[in-house]
Amino acid sequence: MTRERKRKASVSNDKPPAKTADVRSGRLSDEQIAANFADMHPPLTPSEALIDADRCYFCYDAPCTTACPTGIDIPGFIQKIRSGNLKGSAHTILSANIMGGMCARVCPTEVLCEQACVRNTHEDRPVRIGLLQRYATDPIVDAKTPLFKRAPATGRKVAVVGGGPAGLSCAHRLAMLGHSATVFEPSEKLGGLNEYGIAAYKTPDDFAAREVEYILGIGGIEVRTGASLGKNLPLRELRAQYDAVFLGIGLAGVSALDLDGEKLEGVANAVDYIATLRQAKSKASLPVGRRVVVIGGGMTAIDIAVQSKALGAEEVTIVYRRGQEHMNASRYEQEFAQIRGVTVRYWSRPSKLLATKGRIRAVEFEKTRSGSGGQLEGTGQMYMLDADVVFKAIGQKILRERLADTADIVELRQDRIAVDEERRTSLAGVWAGGDCVHGGSDLTVSAVQDGKLAALSIDRFLKGGA
Ligand SMILES: Cc1cc2nc3c(=O)[nH]c(=O)nc-3n(C[C@H](O)[C@H](O)[C@H](O)COP(=O)(O)OP(=O)(O)OC[C@H]3O[C@@H](n4cnc5c(N)ncnc54)[C@H](O)[C@@H]3O)c2cc1C
Ligand code: SF4
Repeated sequence: MTRERKRKASVSNDKPPAKTADVRSGRLSDEQIAANFADMHPPLTPSEALIDADRCYFCYDAPCTTACPTGIDIPGFIQKIRSGNLKGSAHTILSANIMGGMCARVCPTEVLCEQACVRNTHEDRPVRIGLLQRYATDPIVDAKTPLFKRAPATGRKVAVVGGGPAGLSCAHRLAMLGHSATVFEPSEKLGGLNEYGIAAYKTPDDFAAREVEYILGIGGIEVRTGASLGKNLPLRELRAQYDAVFLGIGLAGVSALDLDGEKLEGVANAVDYIATLRQAKSKASLPVGRRVVVIGGGMTAIDIAVQSKALGAEEVTIVYRRGQEHMNASRYEQEFAQIRGVTVRYWSRPSKLLATKGRIRAVEFEKTRSGSGGQLEGTGQMYMLDADVVFKAIGQKILRERLADTADIVELRQDRIAVDEERRTSLAGVWAGGDCVHGGSDLTVSAVQDGKLAALSIDRFLKGGA
């Protein structure tokens, strides 16, 4: 039997479980849950902000700015904090990145601007750029202070498909440039994964929704919810009715483990559970497993593991097929999960889902290693983890059927939309950005940058220069 076929024939209902599955709500009190989901990086006080701003060397050709995917003038905004010009500071940030408030909360600064900061040495620590960014932008979003005006109306209209960071950034920049944008979004709320995916402790107090409101405040952006490309929104029609189209549809599909039993009760997609958690009125009411096994190695794996623990799961284990250094989640995120009580096991892949009466009870793993050519190979050494719940967090992918409503299917590369450096697709008049395009880094900040670059390119096109 080939390895593939062995992995396919892999559900076992053989042994009776030691106990029935232990999945229930109310493991912790509301107070405990509120403490566990409190703001991960509480905001700086004014004196803390001034002390940190004073630590900046205001480097020429600042490496922190180069490391920021949206190219925020970091020394520029820090200087304005220092001189008490908070509004000017926020303007510097938001003109490069309209989601500067969210990015201040969710960016992995430890591998971007703060890693590049010249003060990041063995003896010192980087300037806390993320927290300073939040310090400058929070008052603006809180007070809904308008910082941007629309250019005179051009009469040109653009369809923006998807209301996540990429789509909203594109729509905002188009609105600034005087074009009118219509955002088409299937969900009730805009924000994409900011609203439905990011860990709850990174963005408490409904910040995602408040930021969306701020962005729409510029005017010139119409929103149509309940509209889904490939379902009730044909690309062909959009191309005919609008002067340009931007696709920012994210990755709605979830990668499978390729094992039998993925539909077993107790086996779930991490992103689906997180979306439910983010929208739950009472987190204490969510059902949580006592023993949770998470399969994956990215931010989603870390987030579902930490949030399961925060909801009261007793044992949470992330299992990743390669080593610590290969994980997509940064070292900081891995350590954060471990501090929050999550166990991480490396070099193991699932080989069998064990069930009783249609419900998951354990996962069998095979130890892995890197072969001579660097490829992953099994060692034949097996071990078992008991599980009340198993979360799949091994990546997301584009849903092809979302694009297949027209004969002019855009060119895909490795299952994502192929774009050039201006975020133009292979279809004339159609741009794309964010997670759905090939070659990105699957971060909020990169999606915002894509939306901005696409809007600038669309603007040139509409003015006859592209
Ligand atoms: C669990 C999780 C945690 C994450 N944590 C972080 C983090 O801490 N920091 C970070 O920087 N990044 C994080 N990311 C990644 C980040 O959220 C994404 O890179 C970012 O949201 C991408 O933005 P987007 O606009 O391309 O896609 P999305 O945010 O996915 O938005 C796409 C939008 O398009 C809509 N849509 C989908 N299909 C259609 C259709 N057919 N028609 C019309 N609209 C459609 C969706 O409803 C959605 O509103 C995380 C991702 C996940 C899954
Ligand atoms: S690298 Fe650090 S010290 Fe230099 S400008 Fe950026 S934040 Fe300031």
